Amino acid sequence: MTTSNDCPCGSGRPLAACCGRYHDGEPAPTPEALMRSRYSAFALGLTDYLLQSWALETRPAALPDDDPTQWVRLQILDHRETGDEGRVHFRATFREGRRWGVLEEISRFRREAGRWVYLDGTPSVTRLKPGRNAPCPCGSGNKGKACCVTG
Ligand SMILES: [Zn+2]
Ligand SMILES: [Zn+2]
Repeated sequence: MTTSNDCPCGSGRPLAACCGRYHDGEPAPTPEALMRSRYSAFALGLTDYLLQSWALETRPAALPDDDPTQWVRLQILDHRETGDEGRVHFRATFREGRRWGVLEEISRFRREAGRWVYLDGTPSVTRLKPGRNAPCPCGSGNKGKACCVTG
């Protein structure tokens, strides 16, 4: 179980010592750090930060602010950095009401004027059917019924 001060990216560190610094304007030092901070921004609904950290040519005009998606877990599977380009392969678990899913993507990042920005990626989404007695998909280690899998 995470407490409300823990960073949503799952680092186990407090938000202010983790992604919160980048949300407050410090440049993320690596594509992975930017990826984590963007995941946290999705989890916290920080749409301004999401738009700012998006490359101009692929940035959407706006993001929905009534998005019902709850992001519950981030797993970084692989990350690499070559000069001013980076890639991060990740898996993000989410729920929308009683529906659960996993989004997997290899995101591309680029460093522009010393700041990493998100370029693009091809997401694939898989539906999850979490069992009440199976480990909770949020990664807490508890059984689903004792954690997030209710109803
Ligand atoms: Zn974080
Ligand atoms: Zn859970």
